[in-house]
This record gives sequence, C-alpha cells and structure tokens, in this order.
Amino acid sequence: MKVLSVTSEVYPYIKTGGLADVTGSLPKALKSFGVDSVTLVPGYPVFFPMAYASEPLFEFDDLLGERAAIRFLQSADLMLFILDIPALYDRPGTPYLDEHGIDHPDNWKRFAALSLAAALIASGELPGWQPDLVHTHDWQSALTSVYMREMGCEKPVVLTIHNIAFQGQYPATLVPYLHLPPSANNVGCLEYYGDISFLKGGLMTSDVITTVSPTYAREILTPRFGMGMEGVLKVRRDSLRGILNGIDDDVWNPETDELLPQTFDLANVDLRRKNRRRLEQRLGLDDDGGPIFSAISRLTWQKGMDMLAYASDYLVFSGGKLIVCGKGDADIERMLLEAAEKHPGRIAVNIGYSEELAHLIHGGSDAIIQPSRFEPCGLTQLYGLRYGSIPVVSRTGGLAETVIDANDAAMNAQVATGFQFHPVTTEGLCHAIRRAMDTYNNPKQWQQVQTQGMKARFSWERSAGQYASLFRSLARKSGTSSGVEMQRATG
Ligand code: ADP
Repeated sequence: MKVLSVTSEVYPYIKTGGLADVTGSLPKALKSFGVDSVTLVPGYPVFFPMAYASEPLFEFDDLLGERAAIRFLQSADLMLFILDIPALYDRPGTPYLDEHGIDHPDNWKRFAALSLAAALIASGELPGWQPDLVHTHDWQSALTSVYMREMGCEKPVVLTIHNIAFQGQYPATLVPYLHLPPSANNVGCLEYYGDISFLKGGLMTSDVITTVSPTYAREILTPRFGMGMEGVLKVRRDSLRGILNGIDDDVWNPETDELLPQTFDLANVDLRRKNRRRLEQRLGLDDDGGPIFSAISRLTWQKGMDMLAYASDYLVFSGGKLIVCGKGDADIERMLLEAAEKHPGRIAVNIGYSEELAHLIHGGSDAIIQPSRFEPCGLTQLYGLRYGSIPVVSRTGGLAETVIDANDAAMNAQVATGFQFHPVTTEGLCHAIRRAMDTYNNPKQWQQVQTQGMKARFSWERSAGQYASLFRSLARKSGTSSGVEMQRATG
C-alpha cells in the first residue's frame, strides 16, 4: 500500500528533535511490511540544489496565494516530495524559528500550505501517484485532514501526536486566509477557546490518532498532560492509540557507528573507555574515576533542564561529572553555563546542536539524564540504553515504559536497565543521582544494569508492524487499498 507522510522535519536532512528521527526512519521500517511511503516536506534551503536536479513533478498556480511546485528527491531510504515555495521556505533559521530565535511570523501560512498541498496530492491532483492513506505528524501537518474533508476526500488519515504542547493556535480571523470556509471554524473542527487550533482540526477530522507511547496516550487524557486538548481527546478516545517509537539501528549502532572514535559491542564494553577519555579531553573534564552524567536535550522546562541545573552542585559534590549538550530557553542556558563556570573540570556545557557530539556522548559517558516533566516517548534514553550509557529518568510517558528501574526486585531478577524517579522534582532527581552513584561504586552491579540495557531492543520492527497493520485495516475499511493480506515482505 502507498502512504503519504507529511512532516515539517525529516532526518537526515532537517532535524530539531525526535520528530525528524521518527519520520526519517519509519518509512524504511514500514517498507519491510509492504508499505511504500513518500514523505512530503517543505522546501527548506537544505534540499536545494539537489531537488532542482530534475523538473518539477507538478506546479500549483495558487497555493494560498503562492506559486508552488512539487519536486522529487530520492535517497537510499526515503522518497521525498519537496514542496517548493521559496517565499515561504527559502530563508535562514530552523523550520520554526528565524535566525534570532523568534517564530517565523507566517508559520501559520507555511504549514497550512504544506497541509493543503498534502490534501491535494491525497485527492489525486498529482499525475501518476496517489496514496491509499495519509499519515500526518503534529500541528504542522494537522490541517491536511481538514482540507481533505472540505474537498470531499475521504481517504483515511492517521495523525500522530509527537508532543501535544505544540498546537498551532492562531486567531480565528485567519480562517479566510487558509482558504477554508467560515464553517470550518466550529467546535467540531478548528474552533479552540475563541481561536483556531490546527492540531484540534486534525484531531477532529483524522480517522485514528496515535501518540508515541501507550503511557502518553493515557496521560494526555488528563488536564495535567493534555495541555487543554484533554476534552477533545476524550471525545476521540476510541480512536486514540499509543505506539512506541523505535530507533534506527543503522544510525544508532555502537558496533558500526562511524561517528565514534571507538566502536564497541556487548562483548567489548570496556572499549567505551576510549570514547570516555576523548569526551573528557574534548570538553575539558577531569580525568578521574567519577561517573560522567550527560544530558543531550532541548534546554527547556519540559525537559526538566532547570532541575538539572539546580541538581548540578549535588552531582558534583557527590563525585560525578556532568555534560550538557543542547540549546533552548535563554534562562536555562544561563543557569547551566553558570554551573559550568562554578565547577571547571567537573561540568561542561555545550550550547548548540551537534549530531556528532551526541553520538560521542552516548558512546562515552556513563549515564544519560532525562528528568522530563512530561515526555511523549523520548529517544535519548533509548540511544543511551543501546550505547551502554545508563538512563536516569523521570517516571513519565515513554520514559516510564522504556527504562526498568534498578530497585531491589529488578536487580535480583537481573532485569534493571536504569534509574527512575518520581515525583519529578529536583529532590527526586538528586535521589536518583545518589542511587546511580552508589551503583556506580559497585562495578559488578553497574555492569549488570549496563548489560541489561544494551540487550534491550527498541528497534522499529515491532512498532512499524503496529503502524502497518493499523494503516492496512483503515485502508481496507475505506476501500482505498487492494486489501492485500498484511504480510511481512520477505528478504
Ligand atoms: P524531543 O522532545 O526534543 O523531540 P526526543 O528525545 O524525542 O526529544 O528526541 C530528541 C532528539 O534530538 C534525539 O535524536 C537527540 O539526540 C536529539 N538532540 C537533542 N538535542 C540535541 C543536541 N543538542 N545535539 C544533538 N542532538 C540533539
């Protein structure tokens, strides 16, 4: 069957977080289940001149008032439709922010255009290719199903929520500029507390809503985690499912990782020491026996990075070292930089985004800290597990599901893979750091937790199978697919 995946970011081309990892790796995993995906993305500068190598597949004279073209780009693992609208996408910055860190003022139009193009492709506008199903991701592509229903296109749509904190909320006065009729602004569609919400429109008009872990699927039905959408989700409760994210084993594999100075596997975990030493040298950390705790994360309240800053004194006084790699809120960046200044040789803070450093940190540090206040799935703890960097995490969302706490029972049963804490407070985090430190001082126990973690498998195989069977049952129900039996393709 054929799926159109619509997204604002996709690894390895453009990434600000886990969404890109997922949209970049799921198509490859789905292929072995007989699902062929094409991914529609905005034509950011990174895609050019590659995407100009061939003629456009199709041109729109007027897509929300802009001339637009669909171009095609194929890599080893991905087939991409690039939505080429220079006026909207050819500019510096990230997909969401300009070079000064401010939201692009026309984000509503940039992502509405993406969604409208997707809906037109779903409706058969593109000669020679039509999907059986559309898969949208977060608010940036959530309007796709709104446009499709307005066009009378009943093809199935699955909307995946990667983070419900971002909702695409705008003044209702924008509705005519979205080329939608006033009737779309009703409580059953876009209307949201007097404004409109792109995400809500998608939640109300998609066939199935998934989110990236079963725990988060339950959590977002509550006011604490639903961020205002809990009522809408309760209405759609029967169509809400949690499917855990997987990791791309080709990109995140310590045995073959070309970004690591030293590769290793379970039989040679000792080799990690070389990476650890490289990390210490590169970031100016002391060369002593204390464990290195690391955070690779957006530096935000959601990720609990303020709590990490508060806990940093405790971590250092307990004999640990800390690496932080990330960027985010100015206040939190400042708090962490001050901590590094206060503890030279013990804390290193790298403000920025570096895929290469992220791999080295996973392959060289002893523990990965993720004290999130909420976490839909979380990928860094999964990379940590795979690379023998033991996760220290809050017990929420996907973190609760993917890490087995090293309590006495789990240690005795030899199933523990990390350290969890709850409630999610600075004290809770300090307590988890203390437990990790105690275990580190008992090398046999530490190795046991590390080994269990490295054995845990969170590759896409299982989750992609769940997406594939969901897609196929929806396509069969709506009559858009040939109804071929769900079979894993061989070879
Ligand atoms: P998010 O909520 O940010 O999407 P996830 O844990 O789901 O969180 O995914 C985060 C992804 O972004 C991971 O691939 C992680 O390695 C990456 N990442 C986050 N911060 C950085 C950074 N500073 N440098 C490199 N990669 C980063």
